[in-house]
Amino acid sequence: MRAQPKASHYINGRFVDDERGTAIPVIYPATGEVIASLHSATANIVELAVEAARAAQPAWARLKPVERGRILRRAADILRAHNEELSRLETLDTGKPIQETLVADAASAADCLEYFAGAIAAFNGEYVDLGGPFAYTKRQALGVCVGIGAWNYPIQVAGWKSAPALAMGNAMVFKPSENTPLSALALAEVYSEAGLPDGLFNVVQGYGDVGAALASHEAVDKISLTGSVPTGKKVLSLAGSHMKHATMELGGKSPIIVFDDADLENAIGGAMLGNFYSTGQVCSNGTRVFVQKGLHDRFVERLVERTKTIRIGDPLDPDTQMGPLVNKSQHDKVTDYIAVGKAEGATLQTGGGVPSLQGFEGGFFVEPTVFTGVTDNMRIAREEIFGPVMSVLSFDSEDEVIARANDTEFGLAAGVFTKDLPRAHRVIAELQAGTCWINTYNLTPVEIPFGGFKQSGIGRENSLAALQHYSQLKSVYVETGDVASPY
Ligand code: NDP
Repeated sequence: MRAQPKASHYINGRFVDDERGTAIPVIYPATGEVIASLHSATANIVELAVEAARAAQPAWARLKPVERGRILRRAADILRAHNEELSRLETLDTGKPIQETLVADAASAADCLEYFAGAIAAFNGEYVDLGGPFAYTKRQALGVCVGIGAWNYPIQVAGWKSAPALAMGNAMVFKPSENTPLSALALAEVYSEAGLPDGLFNVVQGYGDVGAALASHEAVDKISLTGSVPTGKKVLSLAGSHMKHATMELGGKSPIIVFDDADLENAIGGAMLGNFYSTGQVCSNGTRVFVQKGLHDRFVERLVERTKTIRIGDPLDPDTQMGPLVNKSQHDKVTDYIAVGKAEGATLQTGGGVPSLQGFEGGFFVEPTVFTGVTDNMRIAREEIFGPVMSVLSFDSEDEVIARANDTEFGLAAGVFTKDLPRAHRVIAELQAGTCWINTYNLTPVEIPFGGFKQSGIGRENSLAALQHYSQLKSVYVETGDVASPY
């Protein structure tokens, strides 16, 4: 199986390479086979990309917003027309099952492009009446923005960052995770086909050092990172030391709270979605599932029954519901956490093993895993595992569960399942989380802001909020009379 792109990087509307860069082998996580070989960007490649972006941006920012939007809209249509091949590419790159990539990856990027294509023409400043004189505000592009992506949703992350950046009149240099470098190149080709002028969306490959070189480049005005908290701290301090704008979309250990009166099957469905989708590699996953005592045992019984029916296997088979983890080191990390959970005294209800799948012996599979009897101070309840490992905790009262749900350094997401709507809103209001759901979990349509409280991040993606984060505000005071000068 091969998925070799024409070259490693995409700069100024063309594929380019520099074979002196460190090798990046691209591995199909279901088999462990190498499907492409790329090179990390050399200093020369980083310079070319930033320079192309810097040169192209001013003319792009001067276009009418509706004209920029028209190009994004065409790109959204092309993404949708190529959804099947892009989904296959994403499955090869990430190992996620094709039934997921067909609906959640290029399709999500297309939704995002379409949204910002339309929204930008209506994203205007304010008029301020000063009783004679007046003022107006205007949102202006920042200039060159750097996007750095994680490996769980590669083309979605590239779309979520590039669409608002480009709509607003910026140029972007995007660095995908070296684990999943392929689909951002495909997105770059789509943008070119849609008529995006050269230099406005550039892709450079590389490890963390390339991300750091981009984040500290003097011609870069903004950095948007999707990644872990430790990386976020490094990148934010680089941005701070150069006084650059920054958006940080980082990790989480989010709570799902299920009250006794919840609809049982929906609450279980939400908890499974929030732990097992994308083999648990989702930042907003609700990995601490708090279930009220009266429902706890029935919840666990049905949860285990339903979890056992999850079909693990060939990601390209449309019936497969769970693929492998992204690579060996993630596999080691997740299986280590499963061992930690057992050693800490949690009860392993189902899963916990490494399935043996014929033809996929070299893949990084792990069974969907449910622990019960988890307590708040166990490592599996405190640390982000980023794999299909659900911790179920029980609770008595509303006040108690709010305090326990908030007892974490993270604050990305939270969910509440109950039929008592006043309680749902009351509890959500108290939860320290940026993205919340009532009676569902993990739905992230582009129309609503996405991002975290506390260590889970700064800034927001999606919605009109993202346009604010890719622009700066100019205030203009207009005098209509004489200057009142004492001199
Ligand atoms: P990492 O933090 O390891 O990496 C994120 C990106 O940053 C990668 O492209 C990485 O490159 C790059 N990078 C690493 N070090 C540096 C550095 N010093 N300077 C600049 N860039 C650097 O995250 P993962 O890729 O492992 O992704 C998983 C994490 O992402 C989880 O914590 C998850 O919760 C979070 N995430 C958050 C989301 C959100 O929207 N809030 C969504 C999806 C994931 P390289 O890969 O080469 O090291």
